[in-house]
Amino acid sequence: MLTFLGRGSAFTDEQNSAYFVDGNNLVLIDCPMSSFEKLNNKDINDIDLSAYEHVYVLVTHTHGDHISGIGMLIDLLHFVLRTPITIIAPSEEVQTDLHLYFLRIEGCNDSWYELTNVNEFKADWLEKTIPTVHTEELAGKCFGYVLNIGGTRIVYTGDTNTIEPFEKYILESSEAYIEMSAFPSPVHLNCEKMHDKILEYTSKGIRVYLMHLDNEKKIADVMKDTGAEFAPLRQGGFTMEDTGRMLAGIFDITDSLYKDMCMNRSKDHTMLFTYLTDLGKTIVDADRASFWKWDKRKHQLWTMSATGVDRITIPDNSGLVGKALRLKKTLVVNDPYSDPDFNKDIDLQTGYKTKSVLVLPVADINGDFIGALQLINKNGNQGFDAAVDPKKLSLAALVCGIALESETFLEDSHHDRLTGLKNRMGFYYDFAKKYKDYLISGSDMTMCVFICDIDKFKRVNDTYGHNAGDDVLEFTSHLIDSSCSDKDCVYRWGGEEFVMVMRDTDLEGAVKKAEEIRVKLMNSDIEADGNTLKCTLSFGCALFDPDKSIEENISQADERLYNAKESGRNRVCWE
Ligand code: GH3
Ligand code: MG
Ligand code: MG
Repeated sequence: MLTFLGRGSAFTDEQNSAYFVDGNNLVLIDCPMSSFEKLNNKDINDIDLSAYEHVYVLVTHTHGDHISGIGMLIDLLHFVLRTPITIIAPSEEVQTDLHLYFLRIEGCNDSWYELTNVNEFKADWLEKTIPTVHTEELAGKCFGYVLNIGGTRIVYTGDTNTIEPFEKYILESSEAYIEMSAFPSPVHLNCEKMHDKILEYTSKGIRVYLMHLDNEKKIADVMKDTGAEFAPLRQGGFTMEDTGRMLAGIFDITDSLYKDMCMNRSKDHTMLFTYLTDLGKTIVDADRASFWKWDKRKHQLWTMSATGVDRITIPDNSGLVGKALRLKKTLVVNDPYSDPDFNKDIDLQTGYKTKSVLVLPVADINGDFIGALQLINKNGNQGFDAAVDPKKLSLAALVCGIALESETFLEDSHHDRLTGLKNRMGFYYDFAKKYKDYLISGSDMTMCVFICDIDKFKRVNDTYGHNAGDDVLEFTSHLIDSSCSDKDCVYRWGGEEFVMVMRDTDLEGAVKKAEEIRVKLMNSDIEADGNTLKCTLSFGCALFDPDKSIEENISQADERLYNAKESGRNRVCWE
């Protein structure tokens, strides 16, 4: 689809001209002075000319109001940006006119640009040039174009007083950009005369965009029942139509996100990332989006949330997400199948066809990259715009980064560094999140806890040193942890004390489990800082009483642990 830098006539404050992006190249259709000003002034328009490798200008005809910015564009690209520019004339005759024009009027040296015509110039996107009828002075020198952008046929009329030569190209699958004048002039298509024709097109499902709007209000009025739209005008990086749609999308998503956050009883933070990913998808108008967390310890990347696919875990040196994080930069890949880092497996498994990918690394507040937003398949056929889409995404990336960082802090604060087990904060968090719901979910829900404590652990420290003590703690915690089923969870309660919570387990089952762990540790040889040691554990078990507080329940188990210690250690007490 085309985007317009201006869609007016010589008698409005901007002239008609459009552009599209072809890979790393920018293709402009005409370059009147009002469009050059927009290209050169980032306050008005944020197309970043320096982001393109080559600029092409496709000329429709040589009226001053259509081409007068090209000379300035040649100067800017040649002297400032050092970007090559090719000007394509619609015929050899127009090429000669352009040559004289650049030389005499604009004073450009012809080594600063390449000038060619459609008969010599070949590009996938250039299908055909169509002669039109305009002013007498331009007889034989005024043209429209048939283009093919990413598989979509685009018909661009330029200035013409008849639609007739374009008719056979305006088919159901094509997009038609048709000039429309409010005035009954003999050189343009007049809206009143064109009304029925446009209606005929739109009723066939053809997308019709109107340009050269010399009186927008009147044209809108005449065309209101046709379904034709004004050509999308770009302002400040967005088309106005995009901006309205996008803002509505952003407001809806943030509103639902905030409501969900306020009501989030299950304390499930992943929904935050789902919303933020959706926000990114809406802002850049992509088909799919995912948010990846970089687990630097495990050297893995995994999706915190993804639209359209299940959760995926991959090694952190793989795929385009891995590449963006490795290079520490934003990636725009509009032909992923030719990128060796692109992982085709998911497409092969699912039949999905990835056509364009944008990966934006996401940083924490220290500026370290901790994840990445990945957007797949920009809607429409042009792929992602490296100069614009990452900018649009920066808000979502910023919030994702801060959210992921707080999520990581929260996770860290619930875990113990030495053993990797959850700590007491993790216990209270899990209690609020799952155990409470479990206990009230039915009258026959039985849950048990035990608290255990390493016997005479101080001696280990005193005899073999603190490092050996740490090794014993790690060994013991892994041993207890490896006895957990998926309904159990173990926590480091304090120094050398551990608590296990067991759902769907009665007291007998809990005692049995404690006993197994006791025997296993007693029979283990522990390698601790160069020494081989033996250690034992004492246990206090209790059936969880939902009518009592958490503290009262833990105290009950703790009293029994005390009994186990008092009666000789290395044993399990439950009464
Ligand atoms: P009891 O059989 O009565 O439990 O005797 P104990 O020696 O195990 O109990 P005590 O409470 O006297 O000592 C516990 C020791 O655990 C004291 C403390 O220095 C040590 N400790 C607590 N946390 C850590 C840790 O993270 N690493 C190491 N190496 N030692 C720790
Ligand atoms: Mg102890
Ligand atoms: Mg203790």
